[in-house]
Amino acid sequence: MKIYNTMTRRKEEFVPLEANRVKMYSCGPTVYNFIHIGNARPMVVFDTVRRYFERKGYDVVYVTNFTDVDDKIINRANEEGVSARAIADKYIAEVIKDEEGLNIRPPTRRPRVTDEMEAILDMIGELIDKGYAYEKNATVYFDAKKFKRYGKLSGKNIDELESGSRVEADGAKRNASDFVLWKPAKPGEPKWPSRWGEGRPGWHIECSAMVKRFLGDSIDIHAGGEDLIFPHHENEIAQSECANGAMFVKYWMHNGFLNIDNQKMSKSSGNFFTVREIVRKFSYDVIRFFILSAHYRAPLNFSEETIGHAENGLARIANCLKALDYIVKNVDKEEMTEEERENAKKIDVFVNNFEKAMEDDFNTADAISSIFELVKFANINVGEESSKEFARMTLDNVSALCDALGLRLRERKEAVDERFIEEKIAERQKARESKDYARADAIRSELKAMGVTIDDTAVGVRWTT
Ligand code: AMP
Ligand code: ZN
Repeated sequence: MKIYNTMTRRKEEFVPLEANRVKMYSCGPTVYNFIHIGNARPMVVFDTVRRYFERKGYDVVYVTNFTDVDDKIINRANEEGVSARAIADKYIAEVIKDEEGLNIRPPTRRPRVTDEMEAILDMIGELIDKGYAYEKNATVYFDAKKFKRYGKLSGKNIDELESGSRVEADGAKRNASDFVLWKPAKPGEPKWPSRWGEGRPGWHIECSAMVKRFLGDSIDIHAGGEDLIFPHHENEIAQSECANGAMFVKYWMHNGFLNIDNQKMSKSSGNFFTVREIVRKFSYDVIRFFILSAHYRAPLNFSEETIGHAENGLARIANCLKALDYIVKNVDKEEMTEEERENAKKIDVFVNNFEKAMEDDFNTADAISSIFELVKFANINVGEESSKEFARMTLDNVSALCDALGLRLRERKEAVDERFIEEKIAERQKARESKDYARADAIRSELKAMGVTIDDTAVGVRWTT
């Protein structure tokens, strides 16, 4: 199996550090809002990578974190007048709901930064003790110049980085590339005791500390979006290799960016969609399929049109499965004929093409093309005159390939997002409570147009489709 390694900038044969085991870490979201469609990309992609390794019989230990202490969380908490913990708890629950919808299997471990302070403080202490970090004004910095390989992942040269930027005005940093490991808390911010005073960790150290705690000094795969290559992953390498004295990561995998209408996603220009918004129109299954329909390293353009193509493609597969299922249940002839046996060999070709695509740096775009070829084969070759055995064999193979990619093919009606309906009903209840009957009626009509009928009963609102 070949994986493109960002570190070496080429595809390399995958050889695990320990036989039959894959130790894998992916940087998780900062939990201050619903996840956006861009955040869904690494989640879906690396879940698919994990599933593929497991399908090949590897024991995969997959760890991903929640960044639950951060300026954005603190700002949001201040805006809403609640604690940072409350914001993080709320959005962790929402991330998990979206992940369930996207059929992302729960990672083996899911640490939160605020639960792992001891591991973080231990690692910072070790970096200071070994001379790789220094303290100034209750802030601890990593001394980037002490790590000779700094810049290797991103292809940046530390001397150029240094000459291109100015050291902060307060002069606390020794070099411009030095980065914060620990900083003092401002009044009202979450804080933890440390030997440098009360404060909180910088962003990069959390991943190094969690990798060490849950996976060890060296891991097979570290993943994330390409925006994390510099400085986040560069800094992780520096911290981990200096603290542990061992190679940190064997293969670095980075997904390309998802753009909206060919433009960078940006909240301020309205070019921004949460997954939750999109599932009102397209199902979670379609979003997963859309993400996997491109190679994970290629840029992916999200628009009504491109996700619409994904919706049609997924429907084509679903219809094929439905037809095959009907045939299996309704035909009389049990056993395959000689001719069918001969024809069935083609199924192996499609399945092999699928495997080949996945073995070549997880080329899900080509893997999906093989599924479409198999669907086309099924549509032409399997019908009411077929044997049960032949129809079942075709059905099982289409299902197995969809399963390998974690594709669910729920009927559109089921995918009429229940959560959306529940939200609408809650909104209608609120409107009724505030005597805004026009709004309440408008919501009832909107649901009716979707084929959802609501009844007010003594025990609450009941809805049916
Ligand atoms: P964040 O919460 O911003 O730290 O992002 C969580 C993950 O989503 C990281 O792996 C990011 O690289 C990734 N990510 C953020 N925006 C995009 C995007 N537009 N396309 C693809 N991946 C993204
Ligand atoms: Zn990270």
